[in-house]
Amino acid sequence: MKKIFLLMALHFASSQFSFSQIQHLEPMNWWVGMKDNSLQLMVNGKDIAYTTPSINYPGVSIKKLTKGDSKNYLFIDLVISSQTQPGTFPIRFTRNGTLVEKYDYTLLKRALAPEAFNGFNSSDVICLITPDRFANGDPGNDIIEGMLENKVNRKVNGARHGGDIRGMINSLDYLKSMGYTAIWPQPLMENNMPAYSYHGYAITDHYKVDPRFGTLDEYKELAQKAKAKGIKLVYDAVLNHIGSGHRWMSDMPFRDWINYSDSMRITTHVRTVNQDPNASQYDRELMTKGWFVPTMPDLNGENPFMATYLIQNNIWWIETLQLGGIRLDTYGYSIKPLLDAWACRIMKEYPNFSLVGEEWSLNPLITSYWQKGKKNPDGYRGCLGSTMDFPLQSALVEALRQKNRNLWGKGLHLLYESMANDFAYADPSKLLIFGDNHDMDRLYTQLGNDLSLTKMAITTLLTLRGIPQVYYGTEVLLENSAHPDDHGYIRADMPGGWANNTSNAFVGSGLTGDQAEMQGHFKQIAQWRKTSKAITNGRTLHFAPFNDVYVYFRYTDNEKVMVVLNRNEQSTSIDPSRFKEIIGNARLAKNVVTGQSLSIQQKFDVPAKTTMVFEIDPVK
Ligand code: CA
Repeated sequence: MKKIFLLMALHFASSQFSFSQIQHLEPMNWWVGMKDNSLQLMVNGKDIAYTTPSINYPGVSIKKLTKGDSKNYLFIDLVISSQTQPGTFPIRFTRNGTLVEKYDYTLLKRALAPEAFNGFNSSDVICLITPDRFANGDPGNDIIEGMLENKVNRKVNGARHGGDIRGMINSLDYLKSMGYTAIWPQPLMENNMPAYSYHGYAITDHYKVDPRFGTLDEYKELAQKAKAKGIKLVYDAVLNHIGSGHRWMSDMPFRDWINYSDSMRITTHVRTVNQDPNASQYDRELMTKGWFVPTMPDLNGENPFMATYLIQNNIWWIETLQLGGIRLDTYGYSIKPLLDAWACRIMKEYPNFSLVGEEWSLNPLITSYWQKGKKNPDGYRGCLGSTMDFPLQSALVEALRQKNRNLWGKGLHLLYESMANDFAYADPSKLLIFGDNHDMDRLYTQLGNDLSLTKMAITTLLTLRGIPQVYYGTEVLLENSAHPDDHGYIRADMPGGWANNTSNAFVGSGLTGDQAEMQGHFKQIAQWRKTSKAITNGRTLHFAPFNDVYVYFRYTDNEKVMVVLNRNEQSTSIDPSRFKEIIGNARLAKNVVTGQSLSIQQKFDVPAKTTMVFEIDPVK
């Protein structure tokens, strides 16, 4: 009898609210105790703008209501006082005095203190992963009926291959064993696009994990298991654009939600307008407001509701996953006020967090412009801690592959002079340094499929100042030489990520001798790196290249490491006498690969095409 009564009550309760107008209410939850006590809810549902919401919960008050240009959007500005307790409360929506909708909203307790969100830093080595191409841990999610691209085909380089979050979870022990201390997966948000949905940058729902990658619970599991193994999780965020399949494209909250929504125009990609004192207003507008590509509409960061939506979304992911950093795509394509509001708000909320922006420029004047602490002549002061060191990437590869290297200004001089440009940066130790990424030829390909040069490049990256980032599979020489500059081939499948693979990088089976050598070398240097304060937190002293040999030192008050790059095609004798100012009276230097020591006060030989790393014994 009791049961029947309960069923009747439930039936009554559900029929009372059968309008079910609300399709999306975002963010779906929030937290008490945030430094910024404001929260703006975006409510999306048929005719929702005609309703009036009310809340009765201690500490929470509605400050302002804003109807969208579309009657299907209502924005609710809340204030959450510092005394507010965690809990769930109904938001009641009435129309003409009648209750038409009720939404239970939850404020959670923060899992960590704000200071405990530790971002990546120069003690880390970050693995950049293209999740679709890394490991297929769950073939059951390869095809999701109802999604626009609902097939996998590993033979087609632009198609989905089936890799997923479960694959990354399963690979954490491998990543840890290689010496990685952070992972940066490309975006895992829904990309419901008819083609090329695998790369993740055409987001169609900012709060939904793409089901072909897995579930929110799996993403949380990845975050928790990674953290337990000492691996930070870096989130890949996009503020500049969305995928054209986003629901906003058929019903925008405001008429100015998307730039050039009536007459699609493509960006000029001339990002120098952000710094150029001579730039025309025409170029400035088209650069930041033009669409990235025809399938990626440009978000209007000048609309304050858009800016708040994006910033809150990133904070939601930081709290939900307890992230170890954010990488922001296409930095410089968004307008400066949005970039600053985003970076400053996040860093205010999480003082020890890390943000890195993608500014693809080979000019350190441009890349350094964005970094926090840089005093720019135009008065610009940003909050972004890290930028990507594209200038160093280019210099490193050119330095190693160039012909006529001994001409002045060629070869290793390029690397030396790139490092000399450190004066442009507020903090060079926070630069993200790399040899390749998902948008450029594989490092091995850039270096002409030369194992020795690739080992040189990796050893150098793991010992220079900054935060090394390595693209997955570069440690086993993945290459795209037959398809240069082809993204689909650059983002090749990781050997062993699929059940029928004949070789397996994760367990080291079926690899060629060169692949195994590269993998072993990478692992050895990356693991040793963790033990060296001189590398992870030291200063740099370098000596101008001489006879195709470049020598630099990393040092603290107590430790000294010497790195010698010999690009010659033959073994070369090094005379250490010119390094006296840093070596002092030290007697021995230990090769960190072989463990053998040599007398550092005497000439020594470095093999052809080798980067050697030595720990210099402290003088007792
Ligand atoms: Ca899968």
